[in-house]
Order: sequence, then structure tokens, then C-alpha cells
Amino acid sequence: MANKAYQFRLYPTKEQEQLLTKTFGCVRFVYNKMLEERIQIYEKFKDDKEALKKQTFSTPAKYKKEFPWLKEVDSLALANAQLNLQKAFQNFFSGRAGFPKFKNRKAKQSYTTNVVNGNIKLSDGYIKLPKLKWIKFKQHREIPAHHIIKACTITKTKTGKYDISILTEYEHQPVPKEVQTVVGLDFSMNTLYVDSEGKRANYPRFYRQALEKLTREQRVLSRRRKGSNRWHKQRLKVAKLHEKISNQRKDFLHKESHKLAKLYDCVVIEDLNMKGMSQALHFGQSVHDNGWGMFTSFLQYKLEEQGKKLIKIDKWFPSSKTCSCCGQVKESLSLSERTFRCECGFESDRDVNAAINIKHEGMKRLAIA
Ligand SMILES: [Zn+2]
Repeated sequence: MANKAYQFRLYPTKEQEQLLTKTFGCVRFVYNKMLEERIQIYEKFKDDKEALKKQTFSTPAKYKKEFPWLKEVDSLALANAQLNLQKAFQNFFSGRAGFPKFKNRKAKQSYTTNVVNGNIKLSDGYIKLPKLKWIKFKQHREIPAHHIIKACTITKTKTGKYDISILTEYEHQPVPKEVQTVVGLDFSMNTLYVDSEGKRANYPRFYRQALEKLTREQRVLSRRRKGSNRWHKQRLKVAKLHEKISNQRKDFLHKESHKLAKLYDCVVIEDLNMKGMSQALHFGQSVHDNGWGMFTSFLQYKLEEQGKKLIKIDKWFPSSKTCSCCGQVKESLSLSERTFRCECGFESDRDVNAAINIKHEGMKRLAIA
């Protein structure tokens, strides 16, 4: 079984919008109530682990008796709030996350509901959701017939739009494809990647222009008095641009990964730790913004769907310093040297040389596997 999520824009009516707002609020309310109770119980039994284990926690059903207005919203959304809290605690206890926090009004406005007995249906530009009945949505992509819908997450974006993510499950056993074509990719700050054929992925011009605009508008925002009308207006403008840019980037990353997954049977990349890298190199936010992580995850599922491979090679492999022609490794290579020149006479663009080395390293792995 495999999972795939499909994202669409929702167009609720005024009444549906009211119910959505109410649902976000109820989910937050139940989450906070349950968190409050857990904190009290942990405080009370923190020195008595055995007694703590025997404690039971309230369910959304109990809160419904106390706060009848909770019945007005999708009960599955409330049940998922409980599951999310449980997950948050599991992450805390396993050391993966900090102690769960209360959700305030600024928290992400979102809830998840599940498919039970045909409560969620799609038909002709409309999706039927529990309590909300039929909501208009823009289905720009078909969900294949063999995909079974499992859950839907509805989110209100910072600019007041509504998105729905439809999670599906499907039977999937791709036949492994024999590897005939391999490409290596070298991560590039400016263009996303340079491949072993010498090609560069390039962000479209309109995307770069939008980025420049964002920088300008952010500067304007920083000059406005916080909380003032003009500040609020500017903040919305910045949020809208942010949304636009992240959508443009996602589109671009989808297209680039699709292209590669179609052309090649195997793609080799370096396993970069972007978080560590951005800290180490003081690149700040820009490395994350470049979308390498999102790109590689798109690439992975698009290849795997077709029985193809993504190979990640060790990030300590000296891809830049090695000559892709004779294999000699240079002692040093400064970042400003854009052309790689070797004693053997080989000369190439620095990034292309690295991409070829990444490809070779991946092919070695394929031979061992
Ligand atoms: Zn050489």
C-alpha cells in the first residue's frame, strides 16, 4: 500500500465558511482542554509512575456533554484533535519534540476528518464533507479510480483562502525497472542543481522577480509601526506574496522532478543536511527557500512510482575536489574557483565535474547492490 495526497482550493459559501471557522475553533478548544487535563494529571502523579499509567483521559465525547455546542461540528475532527495530542506527547516522550503547547488564535487553522461509511464524496467540482455538505472546489487533477480516500485536511491560509488536502491509499507494487540511464545532480544555491550532462535547472524569471518584490515589500513592512492599519495592510500584502512564491516554487519543483523521473531510471544526489548546512555556511533562510528538500522528496516518489531509483550518497564524499576524468583528489579547491582543472589535462565547470562524480559514485553503488 502506498499513500498519496492531492491538494485543491476550496470555495466555501458564507455559511460553510462560518462552520469552518467554528470547527477550527472547536478543534483548538478540545485540544487545549485535553492538554490542560493531561498537565494536571502529570503534575499530580509525576512521582508515581505506576499510578500515572492507570489514569485515563477524557475523550471529546465527554466534553460534548459539558459543552453541547461542540456537537455542531464534525466529530471526526475532534477525534483527530485527540490523536494529534497523543502524537504530540509521544514525540515529547521519545525526545523528538518539546512539551506540547496550547494552541492560541494565531495557531494554524486546520482540521482533519476521515472517511467513514461514504461520508466524503467527490462529484463534478464539489466535495461532500461531514456537516458541511457539498463544497465547491477546484479539481485541477483527477484522483485515479484505484486510489481510496482515507482522510481530508482543511486549512485556512494566512491570506484567508481555504485548501483541502485529500489523502489517498492505493495498491502499489511497481515493477523494478532495469537501470539503463543514470544522472548525477550537484546541489546549487542559485539554480537548484547542475546535472552530470551539464544542464542547470533554472528558476523561472517571474519567480525571481517575485522574490525581489517580496524583499522590497518586507522592507516596507519593517518600517511600518507594528499594529497600525498600514502595518496590517502591508502584512497581508507580504503574506499574499509569500503564498504566491511558495506556490510558484512548488510548481517548479514538481516540473523539474517530473522531467528527471521521466528521463532517467536512476538519479544520484548527495545526502545534504540542509539545516546543518545553512547554519554552518551562514546562508540563513535562503538554503531552505531553495527547496532542495522538497525537490528531493518529489523526485523520490516520482521515481519510485515507476520502479526507478533515487540514490543518496554520503555527504562527505569529495565530489567537488575529485577529478571526474582521472580520479585524482585535489588537496584544496576554493569556492571562487569556478573551473575545475586537473593535472591530467581535464578541464570542466566546477559543478558539472561534481555532478559527474556524484553520478559515478551512484553507479558504483548500483554495481554493489
Ligand atoms: Zn584528472
